[in-house]
Amino acid sequence: MDVKKKDIRALTKDQLRFFFEENGDKPFRGNQVYEWLWSKGAHSFEDMTNISLATRRMLQENFIINHIRVDQMQRSTDGTIKNAVRLHDGLIVESVLIPTPTRTTACISSQVGCSLDCKFCATARLKRMRNLNPDEIYDQVKAIDNESRLYHNRPLSNIVFMGMGEPLMNYKNVIKAIDKITSSEGMGMSPKRITLSTSGVPKMIKKMADDDVRFNLAVSLHSAIDEVRTSIMPFNSTFPLADLKESLEYWYEKTKSRITYEYVVWKGINDRKEDIDALIRFCSYVPCKINLIEYNPIDDGEFQQASNKAIDNYISALESRNIVVNVRRSRGKDIDAACGQLANKS
Ligand code: SAH
Repeated sequence: MDVKKKDIRALTKDQLRFFFEENGDKPFRGNQVYEWLWSKGAHSFEDMTNISLATRRMLQENFIINHIRVDQMQRSTDGTIKNAVRLHDGLIVESVLIPTPTRTTACISSQVGCSLDCKFCATARLKRMRNLNPDEIYDQVKAIDNESRLYHNRPLSNIVFMGMGEPLMNYKNVIKAIDKITSSEGMGMSPKRITLSTSGVPKMIKKMADDDVRFNLAVSLHSAIDEVRTSIMPFNSTFPLADLKESLEYWYEKTKSRITYEYVVWKGINDRKEDIDALIRFCSYVPCKINLIEYNPIDDGEFQQASNKAIDNYISALESRNIVVNVRRSRGKDIDAACGQLANKS
């Protein structure tokens, strides 16, 4: 039985070096195995061809490699790819590859399900089952990178933590994964190409600022009026906008990094003039830009995308205040791969 064997990727490089030293081998062997496990993404000890057969066997006897498995890959007509990823305990998360003419972006999950209860998001209906481990987050990125090379002839260029889960509710593991992704021993990717998207957990936003992180921050705002925001994102009653504002000011003070606000405009919810005025006020607190996201219906029609006129009102009001606003079209809708649609349907 494998139950007593430890996942080798829970070991740091130093621990791995020490393991070999303890077993009468050179510590350097630890570096070689570490490279196989992370930058080369080996799924089994057999893959490690420059390690002697006896050593591979010894590793086999002591450890397992808990690797994710892409169970199902779906390809959209627009080039978007969605992976259903099976974890070692059988649970499934989804990750998405989004190609544009100049980039390939991986949209990565941080939890199985989600503990937040955003009324417009399909993942919320799954509830949170568990946090992902650092290697499970890293492996999703690696799998998308491989697919990007295979189907789009170029490596992955950007990562967004906008898949399933709330990354700041699994902070420690997300940071460990990002450390690995950005380290030369992992994928060597620049943190500037990574964006963490959060519903807004003030305490953790401050912690990130204190930790001096170098990646970008996006906040799913959707409304700058407490009453409205709480009605669609109930946790806003615990973390109200005043606390969010204060944490974002703290973030900017420390990092000098501009914040992106994600914002969907819904009919009858946040399509009034006062909603726009409140957003403009909120934008005055710290340097920011707005991504207006297209709504992806998740079933019962309780939420509907606002009219083009309402969206145009937002754009012209924001632009007249010199606030940068981008309109984000959804990708991969035909395979339920767009924002808020990740719910393990298959
Ligand atoms: N929990 C994090 C990351 C996951 S959600 C967060 O809240 O930011 C990623 C983005 O998709 C968020 O901006 C979220 O508000 C948005 N989203 C969720 N459901 C959506 C839907 N049905 N249509 C469009 N965007 C949605």
